[in-house]
Amino acid sequence: MAIYEYRCERDGAFEVLRPIGTAPASVACPECASDSQRVFSNPMVSFAPRALVAALDHEEKSRYEPEVVTSLPATGARKRTPMMPLTSTMRRLPRP
Ligand SMILES: [Zn+2]
Repeated sequence: MAIYEYRCERDGAFEVLRPIGTAPASVACPECASDSQRVFSNPMVSFAPRALVAALDHEEKSRYEPEVVTSLPATGARKRTPMMPLTSTMRRLPRP
């Protein structure tokens, strides 16, 4: 089963539980029985972690209002990947 979202012109959004792949393009509104069109939304976003929701919102916003970069990032922000400590076996490996 899957939750499908529909929107009534008068009563707003509502959800319908149906088997996956069987959602019609429109259903009757449970309040006023008028024809309501299906609405497509990001799947499972309501269950996603807050950080993911924030990232998706940021990604959506950057499409229309991209942040303008005016300077290089601070050098402290860049971090090198720590190297693996040299063991006696690794010391014997050929070096470039
Ligand atoms: Zn309605």
